[in-house]
Amino acid sequence: MEIRGQLKFAAAAAFACALAATPCRAMLDDAAAEAAAREVLGRMTLEEKVSLLAGSGTMTLPAVPRAGIDAEWTMSDSSSTVRPSLSRMDWDYSEPKSENTCLPSLSALAQTWDVAWARRHGEVLGAECRDRGVDQILGPGVNIMRTPLCGRNWEYLGEDPFLAARMCVPVVEGIQSFDVAATVKHFCLNNQELARGTVDTVADARTLNEIYLPAFRAAIVEGGALAVMTSYNRIDGVWASECGYAQKGILRDRWGFRGPTVTDWGGQHSAAFAANNGGGIEMHKGSRIKHNVNLKTGEFPLAEAVRRGEVPQATVDGMTARTLWMMAKTGFLTKAQRRRGERNTVAHRLAARMEAAESVVLVRNDAGLLPLDAASVGRLLVIGCGADDPQCGKGGSAEGNPPCEVTLFAALTNRLGAAGATLMPFCAKRTLAATDSSNAIEAGSHVEMKLDEAWSGEDELKAAVAAADTVIVFTGTELGIQENMEGEGRDRVEFDLPPELQAAMHTILGWGHPRTVVVSRSGTPVGYTWTDKAATLVQASYLGMEWGNAIADVLFGDVNPCGKLAQTWPRRYADTAVAQCGTYNATNVAYNERFYVGYRWHDAKGIAPLFPFGHGLSYTTWKIEMLQEAECDRMQPDAIECKVRVANTGSVPGKEVVQLYVAPPASKFERCVKELKGFEKVALSPGETKTVEFRLSPRDLAYWDPFASCWRADAGEYRLLAGASSADIRGERAVRLEKDMQWRPQ
Ligand code: BGC
Repeated sequence: MEIRGQLKFAAAAAFACALAATPCRAMLDDAAAEAAAREVLGRMTLEEKVSLLAGSGTMTLPAVPRAGIDAEWTMSDSSSTVRPSLSRMDWDYSEPKSENTCLPSLSALAQTWDVAWARRHGEVLGAECRDRGVDQILGPGVNIMRTPLCGRNWEYLGEDPFLAARMCVPVVEGIQSFDVAATVKHFCLNNQELARGTVDTVADARTLNEIYLPAFRAAIVEGGALAVMTSYNRIDGVWASECGYAQKGILRDRWGFRGPTVTDWGGQHSAAFAANNGGGIEMHKGSRIKHNVNLKTGEFPLAEAVRRGEVPQATVDGMTARTLWMMAKTGFLTKAQRRRGERNTVAHRLAARMEAAESVVLVRNDAGLLPLDAASVGRLLVIGCGADDPQCGKGGSAEGNPPCEVTLFAALTNRLGAAGATLMPFCAKRTLAATDSSNAIEAGSHVEMKLDEAWSGEDELKAAVAAADTVIVFTGTELGIQENMEGEGRDRVEFDLPPELQAAMHTILGWGHPRTVVVSRSGTPVGYTWTDKAATLVQASYLGMEWGNAIADVLFGDVNPCGKLAQTWPRRYADTAVAQCGTYNATNVAYNERFYVGYRWHDAKGIAPLFPFGHGLSYTTWKIEMLQEAECDRMQPDAIECKVRVANTGSVPGKEVVQLYVAPPASKFERCVKELKGFEKVALSPGETKTVEFRLSPRDLAYWDPFASCWRADAGEYRLLAGASSADIRGERAVRLEKDMQWRPQ
């Protein structure tokens, strides 16, 4: 793998953003797809129907030539790359290992707060799937970040249901614009990896509807996601893959979802019960499939259950029809001309770099040290071995295999030419403790990171720092299933970085080199005890194959930072809702903190976070004002208009994310202090001003009434708050809702 690949960045945004040239075939409309599915279904025997309800291999559904399905249907992970092809019946990769563009993780995409990048992200995935012959991609993942310990937060879109919903819709649309089925996952209440295969999760109806369902709903109802992956956990005692309330009650009856559910791999526990409760396609490592179809014996237990009268024939017909409907929508079933894809193009690589750069958050720049100037950076010392450690090949099912990956150290040395940079590793070898060796991925377990050697070489490092003109300290978590602090199947034990690493940070920052930049990489908040000593701090999530270039683009000011945190960064674990409510364990997790997730919790309890949700600085300055025009003062029957004027008051072009929160009046029902209900990223030159218009509907003011099972908004005065983060509100105005309103469940 080329690690030090260099790409000329100047080559243009427009190129990376351009839609692929091939025309977009309009997906078959729902009714036509239904008719096509029914027609094929009519030609199938019971066994053939059941055969489409289980993987024929790890990532395939079988061909049914007699019914006119000539080829296998192929799936692949995940949300930010197309995972290399797996060998047919297990998790080994086929050789040669296929290569694909690695985009930033969804936690990074969320930090862009840019729906255009979300669309482009989806398009790149869709195009790369088509080029690889992948019909269905197993993403996007939209589980809400409930605890910073969750090992897969980096695969999701942050803590806020509104942000996650707005960002996942264009991802789905982008993927599906290439006639590839998107699979929104993991449905639902899969907000931890600890014991993910056994844990029972219980959330009250308000919490479920207000926090954990909106992104799924948006992906399906607005984005038209063709498939849903059920999660491993139980929901109030019932496996998610067998939960009639979730699969029938919510997905189909409320949201009108017409596609299939797909179990997470190995997540099905019965044939008849699952089928009767809205189950769909059973997936597992090929040879272990056994409930719907037993690949080892060649039997069809689900067909037997139909013959025994345990499952109505119509139920299996419905399940298979939904699978065929998904296949028809993409053009696979009807053998339509599908949109052509492409893979590993320069445009995709540029998109990866630009999306990544737009997600980088400038957390602190107290002394204005950034941006760096290549001419005056002098001797650059980079501390931390992670700065030269490729990341894309790590991460469990979300891992990728890009044709090249540019680390931060490589990007810096490329950029600085002969002057170069010096890398001083300071991380010692790590060992894993307390892992569950039995099948950690399925069982879910904790991973505990330790540095097994005390950090050494302090004198040498101190001398190097003294001799350097500029110092970059690279820290954070790492990615990868085997030796990481974040990853699939495990949560972190500790919120804080390992003590040795914290101590090293204190020591290095304590030397007080005036030109020290800390670059921290993680897909989730991590306990940093040293931030008061870090005057210059940049936060990056996992940024894909161009991560080094993207961070360097921001450090050197080629890109004016415009990323915003998509999660509240607590000062300490004890400040979090799950810690204070004691609602995190490996057996029965009651979501007792309710809808107080992230900033909703910090607002309600008055606990100041280390860095607030929505925070991110820029190299320019911004003025944000809420306009108070008379015509906006009263709520219209179906629209609440609100105008926010934003001005670039600094000296360089940049982008700012204008955020709109709504603070409700006192209500019969407990309400959050405020909730995000709008955002827009605007690009402005110095001195330029733009008025951003937000149009909310009264439904955006609503909460879920658990007794009447409906959405409800109480009459009264609502405050619309415009700002640059959840803790940086720059202007507000009030609007009145004249009468109580309610909406049927949606
Ligand atoms: C993960 C899913 C993934 C599936 C297939 C599971 O272990 O939870 O997110 O799509 O494997 O690789």
